[in-house]
Amino acid sequence: MARVNEPFEGVIMYRRDYRERDLLVKILTDRRGPLMFFIRGAKRKGFKLASDILPFTYGSYVGILADEGLSYIVSAQETHHLTGIGADLNRNAYATYLLELVDQAFEEGRALGGWYKQVMAALNLINTGRDPQVVVNVLEVQLLNRFGIAPVWDRCVVCGRSDLPLDYSEKMGGMLCLHHFAEDPYRFHLTPKTVAYLRLFATLNLAKVDQVHVDEATKRQLGRTLDKIYDDQLGLRLKSKRFINEMDSWTNRLLTARKNPGTDDEKKPAGS
Ligand SMILES: [Zn+2]
Repeated sequence: MARVNEPFEGVIMYRRDYRERDLLVKILTDRRGPLMFFIRGAKRKGFKLASDILPFTYGSYVGILADEGLSYIVSAQETHHLTGIGADLNRNAYATYLLELVDQAFEEGRALGGWYKQVMAALNLINTGRDPQVVVNVLEVQLLNRFGIAPVWDRCVVCGRSDLPLDYSEKMGGMLCLHHFAEDPYRFHLTPKTVAYLRLFATLNLAKVDQVHVDEATKRQLGRTLDKIYDDQLGLRLKSKRFINEMDSWTNRLLTARKNPGTDDEKKPAGS
C-alpha cells in the first residue's frame, strides 16, 4: 500500500517505552480506530511533538496510518490537553478505563464512524467534572453491542411489552416484564430507576448531555449491574477497572473511618 500522509483526528490512549529514546503511543483515530504509533526520538529533550503526544491529549494530526503494524506521526496541527482529567485521580482512573475498554472493543485499521465523537464527548464530560462513573456506564452499556452481546434493554424479550415493570435477565439476554419474571429466578432485581437509566443509556448521545445527576444508591446498582454483565457474559477483567474498584473500597473505608473514628477495625466482619 502507498505510504501517504493522511490528516486524522485522534486522542492519545496510552504510551509505552520503546528503546532508549523512542515511544510507542496508542492513539484512537477517527479514520482507522486504535492504532499504535512509533515515535522516534520522543524522549529526547526538546522533541518537537512532545506536548502533542502527552496522555489525554487530542486534536488533528497528519501521519502515515498503517492498518497493520506501526503508524507514524508526521506533524500535529492543533492539539488540546484534557487537563481536568490529568489532574484528578478519580477522573483519570475512569478515563483510563474508558480508553482501555474502547481499545478492546475496536479493531485496528477500521473507521470508528460515530463512535469517535461519542468517546470524545465522554472524555469531555469527565474532563469538565461530570460524574465519571455515570459517563463511563453509558459507554459500557453501548459498547456491549461491539463485544457481540446485544441485550434488549427497552422491552420484554419474551412478549415485547415495554409498559410494565422490567428487570434484567442474563439468561434471557435482556429485560423481562412482570409477567415473565418467572423465566429467570436469577434476574437482577433492579429498581425501576436503574432500569430506566439502562434504557436511557442504551441510546444516549453524549454530545447532547450537559448535566449528569444520578443518586448514590442508583449509581451503586448501575455500577454493580454492569460489572456483573461484563464479568459473567464477557469475562472481561481489565486492570484499569480493578484499580477503580480498589479505589472505591479505600474511599469507603476512609469515609467509614471518618464517620466512626476508632471503630473501623471493630466493625469489620470476621475474616475480611
Ligand atoms: Zn413479557
